[in-house]
Amino acid sequence: MNKDRWDIVVVGAGAAGLFAALRAKELSPHLQVLIVEKGPKPLRKVSISGGGRCNVTHACHDLDRLLTSYPRGGHRLEAIFGRFMPQNTIDWFQERGVKLKTESDGRMFPVTDSSQTVIDCLLGQAHKLGVSLETKVRVENIEPCGSNFHLQAGSRKIIASKLLLATGGASKATSWLKSLGHEVVADIPSLFTFCCNDPLLQGLQGLSVDPVGLTLKTEPEYESTGPFLITHWGVSGPAVLRLSAFAARTLFENNYRASLIIDFLPDISESELRLQMEGLVSPKLVQTTSPFPTIPKRLWRELVTRGGVKKNQSWQSLKPPHIEKLVITLKQLQVELDGKGVFKEEFVTAGGLPLHEVDVYTMESRRVPGLYVAGELLNVDGITGGFNFQNAWATGYIAGEAMA
Ligand SMILES: Cc1cc2nc3c(=O)[nH]c(=O)nc-3n(C[C@H](O)[C@H](O)[C@H](O)COP(=O)(O)OP(=O)(O)OC[C@H]3O[C@@H](n4cnc5c(N)ncnc54)[C@H](O)[C@@H]3O)c2cc1C
Repeated sequence: MNKDRWDIVVVGAGAAGLFAALRAKELSPHLQVLIVEKGPKPLRKVSISGGGRCNVTHACHDLDRLLTSYPRGGHRLEAIFGRFMPQNTIDWFQERGVKLKTESDGRMFPVTDSSQTVIDCLLGQAHKLGVSLETKVRVENIEPCGSNFHLQAGSRKIIASKLLLATGGASKATSWLKSLGHEVVADIPSLFTFCCNDPLLQGLQGLSVDPVGLTLKTEPEYESTGPFLITHWGVSGPAVLRLSAFAARTLFENNYRASLIIDFLPDISESELRLQMEGLVSPKLVQTTSPFPTIPKRLWRELVTRGGVKKNQSWQSLKPPHIEKLVITLKQLQVELDGKGVFKEEFVTAGGLPLHEVDVYTMESRRVPGLYVAGELLNVDGITGGFNFQNAWATGYIAGEAMA
């Protein structure tokens, strides 16, 4: 008898792989379940996620709203999250001793503020249930063989009755899936910052404005509103990251070059702003007295200078053409993007196996019976905020249940 014959083999000890193995073993304790991981440690990304705190999920309890946080995945995600919502994630961890807390923007973290708590819980469960986990095992190839799968890892051959690929984004598994006849969407990055060397932004690194409205002048156009941050190399913050996710493919096709229109006062219309400024008949200098508390003083100075206001000009001296130019600068500042930055907090791969290639009620391949796919290897990705782990937990859980 081959010692390397398993009922279920999971390739990849990430969030999706662990969740799947745990669910399968929980439902069918008699099954022999093995997770193989090429790295020296399991759950590496969980460890570094959320700045070491692990943003486990998002406090979003409305299915329709949840779906708006996934630029890719489409309507098939409804069936997945219909089965496993953020509340299921919260309950799953709570029942196993990990309490989560919600921050003001909806992100959920362990109360310990440490990703190690999540890792200890997952690995503790694996140990308790008897899931086998082996690290430093890199699967190089997979091959269906009768009703089984043969996995090649160095000189070792592992035989699996059921196989789950949970190898994450941008992994070799996409080429295996392709060779098995699947359609696969090419990997591109999502969740990135924008490079931009507009002189107005120089020297303003670290300043943030909340909210701004952003419009990306591509075909099609993309919009987003929210917190905005000026960085050493350009712009970042939740509004930028959201835009980068929804426009990921368009920006990739445009070589990350496009015009970005920034509205520093999205809560007032241009006509309201015009009226407000016309009413400011004061001897105070425009450059040093901003009536808009959301715009930091240094940025205000740069904006009014760009708007053509002289250093010694007072509010009462502004003529209608000055005000008009100022309104346009504050509401429609155009900057040119010239490349993408690397956001180290959370980035994700867009692309992978489209959901129509699997049965979303089981995560089993529609082409190869017994083969399952979960996590970031799917063509599903979310914006920042815990949505990417939510996809990993949900698809892992569903696959685990089906394999058992
Ligand atoms: C810096 C950073 C921070 C992040 N923070 C957050 C956050 O706070 N919240 C959030 O929701 N999302 C976050 N994300 C995204 C999130 O980490 C991923 O979406 C999630 O980890 C995907 O889980 P997964 O199990 O599908 O893949 P992964 O976590 O990537 O796990 C896949 C595993 O498979 C292994 N593997 C690959 N190929 C093979 C092979 N051939 N043989 C054996 N093993 C293999 C890999 O080594 C890896 O361990 C972050 C991402 C990054 C990079």
